[in-house]
Amino acid sequence: MRLQVSTWPEVEDYLKKSTGVIVPIGSTEQHGPTGLVGTDAIAAEEIAWEAGKRANILIAPTFNVGSAQHHMAFPGTMTLRPSTMIAALSDWVLSLAHHGFTRIYFINGHGGNTAPIATAFADIYARRSLDSTSERFRMMQRNWYELPDVEKLDAELYPVGGGSHVTAGEVSVTFAAYPEKEDTRELDPKIAPTGVITDKHHYREQFPDGRIGSDPSQSRAEHGRRLIDVAADNLASEAKAFFAS
Ligand SMILES: [Zn+2]
Repeated sequence: MRLQVSTWPEVEDYLKKSTGVIVPIGSTEQHGPTGLVGTDAIAAEEIAWEAGKRANILIAPTFNVGSAQHHMAFPGTMTLRPSTMIAALSDWVLSLAHHGFTRIYFINGHGGNTAPIATAFADIYARRSLDSTSERFRMMQRNWYELPDVEKLDAELYPVGGGSHVTAGEVSVTFAAYPEKEDTRELDPKIAPTGVITDKHHYREQFPDGRIGSDPSQSRAEHGRRLIDVAADNLASEAKAFFAS
């Protein structure tokens, strides 16, 4: 069940049965010459939507611009400063809490988001703990690519060149969602270099085509469907356990 395509009476009914909600969160940033700019948001929402269907869980809108300053030397990237992101996340969560949601599960598709999400959680918990009328309430975040069956399948599909940015797995998930965008051409070098990143200049100097450690010519829509299947399964069971906690 997706919030964006629900009516308010449907949300009211849902809240009588469950006060848990999943928020997909990603980024709008370059994903190499063959990957989509929306990859991190698309992967998180595809998996969340599938889990929502399977387990009848409400899925909030996708928080689809994240913390991506290091990708700004590539056209199309958009970023929030960490301070803006923390403020926006706090307002998203407090809006949901206002209606009675007490368990908020962020399924994340972008490593650069984890620190701002954690800081937003600290800010929100502090506000609620300072409010004498607030009730029990919890949030959690999880990177979809670290779900146990996803890690297993990913290692099986891509023993070499899985990578850490523009990963073969995340690109496959977007090809499953948008098969007309499947692009399996080989890039040069076949496997991108690895290293540390700071700002946009440093990033582009070291990783001129945008990839880090990956070979996305291995990505296939068919792999993506399998990754979505196991990820949705893991997410649905983790979210249900979290909502019941
Ligand atoms: Zn990504």
